[in-house]
Amino acid sequence: MLGFPHDTHTHTVYSDGIGSIADNIASAEEKGLKLLGITDHSHYVVGKTFNRYVREIRRWGNESEITVLAGIEGNITPNGIDVPDFVAKKLDYVIVSVHEWVDTPEEYLELVKLALIDENVDVIGHFGANFPYVGFPSVEELNEVLELAEANGKAFEISSRYRVPELDFIRECIKRGIKLTFASDAHFPEGVGNVGWSEKVFKKAGGKREDLLFEEFL
Ligand SMILES: [Zn+2]
Ligand SMILES: [Zn+2]
Repeated sequence: MLGFPHDTHTHTVYSDGIGSIADNIASAEEKGLKLLGITDHSHYVVGKTFNRYVREIRRWGNESEITVLAGIEGNITPNGIDVPDFVAKKLDYVIVSVHEWVDTPEEYLELVKLALIDENVDVIGHFGANFPYVGFPSVEELNEVLELAEANGKAFEISSRYRVPELDFIRECIKRGIKLTFASDAHFPEGVGNVGWSEKVFKKAGGKREDLLFEEFL
């Protein structure tokens, strides 16, 4: 049983997931979550389906006893974030992640820094998922990222799917008052709420309720 039962990163048929919004909510209820976020990929939902996407999350959310938030997972590209203002305004929160191939950790961090100064961004998704492939940045480089996040009030998710960020990075977030969330990144309903790793590392790092971005719903 989770002490902070929430999952802020899940996908549905609105992008590359296989369950409906209702399916994800049903699974979250079954697992005893208090908060569920629906965060489909921006390049699927920004466009004609966007209004329907938000409407459907609101409709099913209103029928549920748990808190259901409408979010999105945007892409961080060399040109910035692909989440327009009008989209961010209609949503409860915006996650953005690096999904494109980069060659060095420095290239990856430059992309993340673009997100950290973008006012539409709330949470950085699966930070460091690329490091095993491109190499790990130095402590100094990571400190620059932490400083920007702290200065701009950005949060990081603790991703049970990718098992990132690293424990030391999470400890540093907590020390600096940078908020955290738990994320399954589930693409199928049964995976919703699979955030055991997130909570384990959060607690190991000394995390308390007040270190969570959405503590008021938990
Ligand atoms: Zn992602
Ligand atoms: Zn995702």
